[in-house]
Amino acid sequence: MNRAHNFGAGPGSVPDEVLEQVQKELLDYKGTGKSIMEMSHRGKEFTQVIEEAKADLIKLLAIPDEYDVLFLQGGASALFGGIPMNLCNEQTDTVDFIVTGTWSKTACADSKYFCSPNKVVDMESQKFLTVIPPEQWKFSESPTYVHYCDNETVHGIEMPTDVYKHFPKSALVVCDMSSNFLSRPVDVSKFDLIFAGAQKNAGISGITIVIIKKSLLSKTKPSVPTVFNFLKKSQSNSLDNTPPTFNIYVSGLIFKWILKNGGVEGMEKLRVEKSSKLYDFIDQSNGFYKCFIDKDYRSKMNACFRILDGNQELEDKFAKQALEQKITDIKGHRSVGGLRVSLYNAIKVESVDVLISFMEKFMKENS
Ligand code: PMP
Repeated sequence: MNRAHNFGAGPGSVPDEVLEQVQKELLDYKGTGKSIMEMSHRGKEFTQVIEEAKADLIKLLAIPDEYDVLFLQGGASALFGGIPMNLCNEQTDTVDFIVTGTWSKTACADSKYFCSPNKVVDMESQKFLTVIPPEQWKFSESPTYVHYCDNETVHGIEMPTDVYKHFPKSALVVCDMSSNFLSRPVDVSKFDLIFAGAQKNAGISGITIVIIKKSLLSKTKPSVPTVFNFLKKSQSNSLDNTPPTFNIYVSGLIFKWILKNGGVEGMEKLRVEKSSKLYDFIDQSNGFYKCFIDKDYRSKMNACFRILDGNQELEDKFAKQALEQKITDIKGHRSVGGLRVSLYNAIKVESVDVLISFMEKFMKENS
């Protein structure tokens, strides 16, 4: 098979086994003579697909009974406005944002149509390379909720799993887990709403998974349009309108693949192994490669680094030569430059080994 070592930040790599199963079932899903894309979302086959996907996700994250799982559209970005639209009563409701990179910054900016956002922390002045200690965070007096991004995909900043312990007890906890969802265990009971675009670890682009405390559903105002309305989505099992059926099917296959490969604990072991190998190599390269992110916050999903403190010419040459070895999608986000290697669940340890060998050779040839 001619598969690339695809380190793209998203849509990211999908496990080979999942793609093979999709291929196998594409023309004739379970003897129906139709693909899953060609069936009613209310028919028996798709009902089973969505029910199983939900049940498997509940199993993977040990989601307690007090929570519901929704499959929404519009990308994770739709939730930046969608969450305050549902959870805030008035435009004057305060929402606290912990701004640690592009995605929390964008969520904060987009929320302003439905609430009054307050930046508890804004790390932009420090180029999103670190996060100041929680003791210095300035929460507002009674925020409706606190929003943070667990893993900033563009800047490569990942929060500790229990960062919510620093938040005001009265505030709801809302977390964007788009780029590290299902890569490590999470205590769902500590959150009120978790959301994640599927296209990194949990599927392909087109669905956003929401895990929401059922008690919050009654907060949604009747004036929220149906496709954005969490209560109506929950009441209809995300089937009030036509959902992206193929995408939910692929997510379901990925959930089964994760379950088969040791669950989120297995994924966590893998991400530690892959990211340690890469960061250790970078740190031992005598400054040829350098990761500028504070070690306490370095992402185990998106490793951002530079060559010789940001030598653009060498970085371009690096990406070009990598491509010749089928090592793809390693350029940093256009807003920050440099290099970025995404180590999502589907990335094999062997791919990281291939990358490191290439990096070693490139360093020898160019230092
Ligand atoms: N949050 C995070 C952490 C992301 O990485 C992204 C996309 N890369 C988004 C939100 C936006 O997701 P979408 O493109 O699905 O709207």
